[in-house]
Amino acid sequence: MLPILIIYTGGTIGMQPSASGYQTSSGMSQLIANAFNSSALEQLKPFEVLEFPRLIDSSNAQPHDWLAIAQCIDDNYRQYAGFIVLHGTDTMAYTAAALHHILGESIKPVIVTGSQIPMCKARSDGPGNIQDAILFARSGKVNQVCLSFAGTLIAGACAKKVDTSALAAFTSYNSRPLAVADITLNFTEQHRPLNQSRPENRQSSFKLSPLQPQSVAVLLLYPGISKVSIDAALLDEKIKAVVMLSYGAGNPPDQNSDLIEALEAAVERDVVVINMTQCYRGKVAQGTYAVGSVLNKLGIISALDRTLEDLVTDLYINLDSYR
Ligand code: ASP
Repeated sequence: MLPILIIYTGGTIGMQPSASGYQTSSGMSQLIANAFNSSALEQLKPFEVLEFPRLIDSSNAQPHDWLAIAQCIDDNYRQYAGFIVLHGTDTMAYTAAALHHILGESIKPVIVTGSQIPMCKARSDGPGNIQDAILFARSGKVNQVCLSFAGTLIAGACAKKVDTSALAAFTSYNSRPLAVADITLNFTEQHRPLNQSRPENRQSSFKLSPLQPQSVAVLLLYPGISKVSIDAALLDEKIKAVVMLSYGAGNPPDQNSDLIEALEAAVERDVVVINMTQCYRGKVAQGTYAVGSVLNKLGIISALDRTLEDLVTDLYINLDSYR
């Protein structure tokens, strides 16, 4: 049986207290060895732990960090049955979505997880999350990137951190989770098994080319927004794609001429603009109201029910597919 590779990138799960708050710390293999009794360890084996040399609080994650994780998976793809990425929770949903866009589907299981309480503390949710991730990876039913947290398996592009303090910190946004770890692993009808069509020995088809930092902007609309804020997102030469967070069903303030002029100028210079709602549920129905019809005229793309994490990472990785 091929082992699972546990890739430790940082995050609360392996952090230690310091005078200035929790900070990253090495030693994940020892934490795992201490967390499980020998019989539990035997059931989780075989696995190996690979610790990144530079562990980060995931608040510091950058697009190149997603690529480093994907590169590590690519480098080790043939030797392992699947991959668990231990990661901080703050930007875990971005990393899960980015890995989904870089690695694609029909791949060996890649399961991102972490914890809300460090493993050096009592009541840590880390050991449970690691166990669930290994069991999901070994289930034979996962062949894509997922995020597993508090017993819930979520498709990589659908995860969202919604709670700062609950152990169940993530939700599957606008869709049911793929599976729940109860006494047994229960896969839902949302889970559609994909063929493992990526042959073991094929040349890498992962999208590992460098990403351009700062090429994606997010524009949150709010009553009274200034021209400076609008222009900073839409008119900066470096920006190639913008996710605009509008109201309700995807409605912009069409009487705000600063906004409409900046949108026209951005579209003119081939910037991809995606219209996403600020609502927590439901999808964009662009043009339902007259105020939104200008967006249709300008060729602005509806985000439908996709998450911000999914859109931002997709725009970094697959910008050309929107043109
Ligand atoms: N700030 C931490 C991180 O994202 C939070 C966590 O892991 O829960 O790395």
